[in-house]
Amino acid sequence: MTCSDPRPQYDTLEDYPVYPYADLGATYTSASTTFKLWSPAAQAARVHLYADDRPGTEPRESLDMEARDGAWAVSVSGDLDGTYYTYQIKRDGRWLAEATDPYARAAGTNGLRGQVVDLFATDPPGWENDRRPVMGKPTDAVIYELHVRDLSMDPNSGITHKGKFLGLTERGTTTPTGDTTGLDHLIEMGVTHVHLLPSFDFLSVDEARSDSTQYNWGYDPQNYNVPEGSYSTDPSDGKVRIREFKQMVQALHAAGIRVVMDVVYNHTGRTENSSFQLLVPDYFYRFNADGTFSNASGCGNEIASQRPMVRKFIRESVEYWADEYHVDGFRFDLMGIHDIATMNDISETLHGIDPSILLYGEGWTAGDSPLPESQQATKVHTPQLINIAAFSDDVRDALKGSVFDAEERGFVSGATDVAESVRFGIVGATAHPQISYDSVNYSHAPWARQPAQCVNYVSCHDNHTLWDRLQLSNPGDPPRVRESMQRLALATVLTSQGIPFVHAGTEMLRSKGGDENSYQSSDAVNAIKWEKKGQHARTVAYVRDLIALRKAHPAFRIGETALIARHLTFTDAGDDQLIAYRLQNAPGDDWTDIYVVLNGYQTRHRHTLPEGEWRQVVDGDRVDSDGRATDTMSGEVTLGAISTNVFVKKTGSGEN
Ligand code: CA
Repeated sequence: MTCSDPRPQYDTLEDYPVYPYADLGATYTSASTTFKLWSPAAQAARVHLYADDRPGTEPRESLDMEARDGAWAVSVSGDLDGTYYTYQIKRDGRWLAEATDPYARAAGTNGLRGQVVDLFATDPPGWENDRRPVMGKPTDAVIYELHVRDLSMDPNSGITHKGKFLGLTERGTTTPTGDTTGLDHLIEMGVTHVHLLPSFDFLSVDEARSDSTQYNWGYDPQNYNVPEGSYSTDPSDGKVRIREFKQMVQALHAAGIRVVMDVVYNHTGRTENSSFQLLVPDYFYRFNADGTFSNASGCGNEIASQRPMVRKFIRESVEYWADEYHVDGFRFDLMGIHDIATMNDISETLHGIDPSILLYGEGWTAGDSPLPESQQATKVHTPQLINIAAFSDDVRDALKGSVFDAEERGFVSGATDVAESVRFGIVGATAHPQISYDSVNYSHAPWARQPAQCVNYVSCHDNHTLWDRLQLSNPGDPPRVRESMQRLALATVLTSQGIPFVHAGTEMLRSKGGDENSYQSSDAVNAIKWEKKGQHARTVAYVRDLIALRKAHPAFRIGETALIARHLTFTDAGDDQLIAYRLQNAPGDDWTDIYVVLNGYQTRHRHTLPEGEWRQVVDGDRVDSDGRATDTMSGEVTLGAISTNVFVKKTGSGEN
């Protein structure tokens, strides 16, 4: 068939033949480059080659593509390294607008043109020796959620490459008063995974003005397989952002920290004129019965993940990030928009590459979807997901109150009716004989088959920061008291079963000045203010030491539902402001009897310890895992107001 012949017409999008090979996009060698585009919608297709990435310039060459093996293809001889390109299809007798190859692996400024690159030339020195840091089971992870720009933009960060991927590679940075910042701070905190807000190429920041003050979270995807240009030192040269992203991963790996990417395959930043829509009209999206774009993302469209070539696109995209960039995990934005089969396909592929790759997502949508509810990868369907976790909004809102009502209080801030939802978080949303599921706020059944399917958290980039929230819900309480609430919330997350997740800066009482949706607010609002680290040194140390405690003691990350049921026993009598449980003989832990008491009472509280002699290793203010600073305790003790208390039973044989 020549390029001018009409292609077969299909009755429905579901009739489009699937392309089985893994070579869509531009396949480069120094001798030739082959371009392949899948578009059964097209009557003809062509590729335009450009010498530069400036909008409005004429192509150096335009080539007709031929139908080959179910795709449109053309091979161009010569070394095309650095050449920019676009695709264009003819449909219903007319040529649509040029579009960027959805499979493009590199792009110029603002992602308006793809770029052919020799990927080998993007590897930083030593990249071939880069390895994922050693990782045990998923519940060993301690995730720190971070926006690339937020880490370094503060004038006090001491970081040179402010707002850039390279900002995460700098060591030895400090505030003017000597507190460590940036990567050294992450190392000091002991987190195992840094979860980066969207770092693929998104739409909203003008890369041509990347030195001007612009900010966006980046939940408006443009090129899924290309790093964001504004985080690079030169957005016009596609290789620079690739190399610098790799340098970032390399530096984090060298520091023993894994990298999770926040991925947004549920919608695209553009709708009618997205690359998908211009190259394979309608196929990549879901539609309402009236023919309008459906909008479960709340952003104007939603991706039809259930279609085989969409599923294939997503699968190959995450596979590419894992292979080429050594990314160690993925957080799926609005995962409920994706179908269960696609998520399991992704899981199978990635865990085939490395079983320790961490996968989790938001088990909800932001609006109604035409995808049948039974197929949605929502939280309630987590048991059908294989080795994929969901965020626990149950424990999040139980600890601080609903994110939809800023004045509502939670367990840490004085609520008297949410303790069972906190207990549900403590067991990682698994089945436990002592949980009354009818009393859990949102879930009336366990939704995690294993604790590794539950991500426990109290705050993230969305909504108010925890510190801002506590100010709104508890305006009458002095900062000292609210700081106790902050510590109790974080300590609950860090001592619970499941996977703990901490929003960057929570340990230093991060504030965004009350801005609850700072997705395009300024750096002044969003950046981590490093002076806070010194001002709240006690809480920073508390969180750091709790992370160390968790890492040292397998009892807090048992990892199996049946073992949690066996070794974790609640001993409180269903008190609505005090939660107490024992961790006895947890596998692998030299602490054979641990007693945890979360005091949600806003006053000091008398409490009777279980029989025996105990030493206190955590109180509301500090962690002392040696327990040497306090005397052995027994019987009735006084718990500090709003405090986490961990006791370890003294055994007959000495040290404990
Ligand atoms: Ca961009």
